[in-house]
Amino acid sequence: MTFTLALVGRPNVGKSTLFNRLVGKKLALVDDQPGVTRDLREGPGRIADIKFTVIDTAGLEMATDESLQGRMRKLTERAVEMADVCLFMIDARVGVLPADRIFADILRKKNAHVILAANKGEGRAADITILEAYALGLGEPIRLSAEHGEGMGELMDVLRPLSEEFEERAKADLSFAPETDVGVDDEDPDAPRVPTRAKPLQIAVVGRPNAGKSTLINKIIGEERLLTGPEAGITRDAISVMTEWAGPDGVGVPMRIFDTAGMRKKARINEKLEKMSVSDGLRAVKFAEVVVVLLDVDIPFEQQDLRIADLAEREGRAVVIGVNKWDTEDDKQDKLRELREEFARLLPQLRGAPLVTVSAKTGKGLDRLQQAIMKAYDVWNRRVTTAQLNRWLTGMLEQHPPPAPGGKRIKMRYATQVKTRPPGFVVMTSHPDLVPASYSRYLVNGLRDDFDMPGAPIRLTLRDQG
Ligand code: GDP
Ligand code: GDP
Repeated sequence: MTFTLALVGRPNVGKSTLFNRLVGKKLALVDDQPGVTRDLREGPGRIADIKFTVIDTAGLEMATDESLQGRMRKLTERAVEMADVCLFMIDARVGVLPADRIFADILRKKNAHVILAANKGEGRAADITILEAYALGLGEPIRLSAEHGEGMGELMDVLRPLSEEFEERAKADLSFAPETDVGVDDEDPDAPRVPTRAKPLQIAVVGRPNAGKSTLINKIIGEERLLTGPEAGITRDAISVMTEWAGPDGVGVPMRIFDTAGMRKKARINEKLEKMSVSDGLRAVKFAEVVVVLLDVDIPFEQQDLRIADLAEREGRAVVIGVNKWDTEDDKQDKLRELREEFARLLPQLRGAPLVTVSAKTGKGLDRLQQAIMKAYDVWNRRVTTAQLNRWLTGMLEQHPPPAPGGKRIKMRYATQVKTRPPGFVVMTSHPDLVPASYSRYLVNGLRDDFDMPGAPIRLTLRDQG
């Protein structure tokens, strides 16, 4: 399985030129018969060893009627839905135009995975556009020259992790037993490819052996598929299950749940059991969007739990802490207070992440767990506008100005969000090396609190700007 890359952007930014370069043929040649609406073109693309499918949305430059904008929007939306990632191109020689912002809005609304590229970037004139392009709030632009083949290395660098993720996913799909497929895969086989964002939410349930992971997943999918129980030697193969997890309002949310229990049980005889379950956990974390760290209320926050929670944070996943077997707890109020205190002390890096008590056995608390998962996912995808961010930054700087180490004044000028999933921000500053870690934490905590991103594994980069 390869991924699909859509080239989007207003006419004349160089989409077809890039398409030709990626596909290596003149497939995208303009069919300039009047009245012919060229549609999306697709071809096998390649940069070095990375292979993918490219979709070109060029072809509307011929349309001059007033429906141009509407048609372009539709075409772009369709391409975005078909693609796993969008290369949003602007023209570095002319700068960011209002029309570019329309495309940026479409991409944002569709919650697309976007790579921003400033094409025709071969000259000095491009420098200013590169800076301007940050303000689109779509991340760090890469500088390309489709015509001269420049920037292909950078494009390759950003595509590589995606390509690897797809290969891994393809492997997971192969080992994914079809009979565990519940509900969501019965779409029309002739229907166009499922848009990435309509894919089920990917969840991993991780935790120590016997925390109740299998019981929990069973409860969610409502069937005894994962074969829980204390007996040794239970084996099963599926590493993920698809389900529609019905919420409190009865509406099902498509989810793919990565199970680490099954793999662990297979290796149960192995005395390296603890180790095994951590590395299974690692694998699941890599696939997941939201990681549920399931704790056993009797032995919460063990070393192994802390390691996997920390790993999930470092991998940039949204994290929800589930405290299981809550049915066995008598003094619920005191215990909850104690758990919250321990959580804050032992996992400060997950400050604000939800902690939900559940009983996988009785099903109590699972609706709250689902809500917490969806909220965490939401936060993970949150986008803050550049205008909001800069108002915020001004306030933060006024409230608590950065120090002046050795008399050097640290001047923070500009902030922008460069990515989501998880949210990533860049602050342009003088002397980034001199900014103390405590000040970065002040900013990160401020972002979390002021933009309602509790528990988000926020990434903050300080970048030098004289
Ligand atoms: P599309 O409408 O977005 O598909 O744009 P095209 O690929 O048709 O390109 C529009 C024009 O920009 C053509 O004249 C291209 O030759 C030119 N062009 C494309 N890429 C580059 C580039 O990297 N540098 C320069 N200078 N011109 C380019
Ligand atoms: P896993 O190793 O994390 O997959 O854990 P299992 O799902 O196999 O559960 C381990 C043991 O804990 C089993 O005996 C379950 O019946 C029990 N268990 C799981 N969830 C709960 C719960 O919410 N309450 C109680 N009392 N027992 C539970």
